[in-house]
Amino acid sequence: MSLCKRRGYIFQSSEIYGGLNSCYDYGPLGIELKNNIKDSWWRAMTYHHDNIEGVDASILMHPRVWEASGHVDEFTDPLVDCRRCKQRFRADQVEGPQCPACGGELTDPRNFNLMFKTYMGPVEEQAAIVYLRPETAQGIFVNFLNVMNASRQKVPFGIAQIGKAFRNEITPGNFIFRTREFEQMEMQFFVHPSEDAEWFERWREERFEWHRSIGIRAEKLRWHEHAEQERAHYAKAAYDIEYEFPFAWHEIEGIHNRTDFDLRRHQEYSSKRLEYFDEARKEKYIPYVIETSVGCDRTLLTVLVDAYAEEPVRDDTRVVLRLSPKIAPLKAAILPLVRRDGMPELARRIADDLMRAHRVFYDESGAVGRRYRRQDEIGTPYCITVDAQTLGDQTVTVRDRDTMEQDRVAASQLREWLDDRVLFL
Ligand code: ATP
Repeated sequence: MSLCKRRGYIFQSSEIYGGLNSCYDYGPLGIELKNNIKDSWWRAMTYHHDNIEGVDASILMHPRVWEASGHVDEFTDPLVDCRRCKQRFRADQVEGPQCPACGGELTDPRNFNLMFKTYMGPVEEQAAIVYLRPETAQGIFVNFLNVMNASRQKVPFGIAQIGKAFRNEITPGNFIFRTREFEQMEMQFFVHPSEDAEWFERWREERFEWHRSIGIRAEKLRWHEHAEQERAHYAKAAYDIEYEFPFAWHEIEGIHNRTDFDLRRHQEYSSKRLEYFDEARKEKYIPYVIETSVGCDRTLLTVLVDAYAEEPVRDDTRVVLRLSPKIAPLKAAILPLVRRDGMPELARRIADDLMRAHRVFYDESGAVGRRYRRQDEIGTPYCITVDAQTLGDQTVTVRDRDTMEQDRVAASQLREWLDDRVLFL
């Protein structure tokens, strides 16, 4: 957390006012990392599957949506209060009848709806209540027909979306692990009801691989299958991908078989037919939905935790973020070895050229060793140094963040050299 603040990954929201509980802002490096994670997910979903389309639905939706989806009645957590210290807890997260903070007596659990409410328009009255969406999925279900007709997709096909979701969590915490405002990356895949199990397995495999593809260590990932009483009201089967955080194993992504629950309910509540006529099968049905739902912020926390290392180098310790080059915020630092002999000018020209394709950083201040360490700490995979030899043979030194080994690359080849290592291809 201290590195995140110091180096500009993540700041507390409204910090100069003392902060706002569980709200965070992404700084210059944080936003680059977040964009790269989203980009990786978006490509894995929409570019790599010509049967998945994207949407970006609005956060505010017709209030009936949340009645149909079951959120008004069911999206609750059991809340208990401590009679002595007044702290609040999720009943399913405390063990036993005593307050985990002070040992005081707890109240009986009561259900607390997690949706944020606000009013649409100038009058604060019951009829004007709207909710901030607690999941992005409903924006996809209500657009099922629009997307299918506009894109001429046929079942099986999917719709992908990245966007903010809001949950008035009783106990947010662990930095950005659980917040009240967060971003989800969700994909709903519509299938024939008889093929649900097969697609469920395919998406399970594919999603696990994605976490690996952004550099997360396999041994820190595992599956958790939801028991029947753990599953959401709509789910027939549910698996979580869990990561071993320093505080415990926890969910980072859920893969759910939502059956035809959502489309059926929207058909009922909106009185619009949401059936699909399958020409190949000569059959009309409401498709089943296999959903993959991952938190963007939680993935970002995972990659930071997974990448962070402190390691001895000679008689010192270096902090290094071993982020995959594909998601690292800065792809390279361009460093003139010294501030003379034309090195800064040449390095600047290289930086200006690379900047057109990649987020790179030019730095000419201080000893080169210190400059390397600063880049290690923020996860920059390559340092490109212009030195005396460059002036003679037009090659530069490229230092690898993880191995600290140095190589020489022709300056004219740098762009391609970097493309090969940092682009999602
Ligand atoms: P929990 O039981 O821990 O509250 P959930 O099972 O309700 O979580 P889902 O509804 O399956 O979570 O949400 C899908 C994903 O969205 C989660 O795997 C997580 O990555 C992310 N997510 C959910 N709630 C939050 C939150 N409050 N803050 C950050 N990310 C979240």
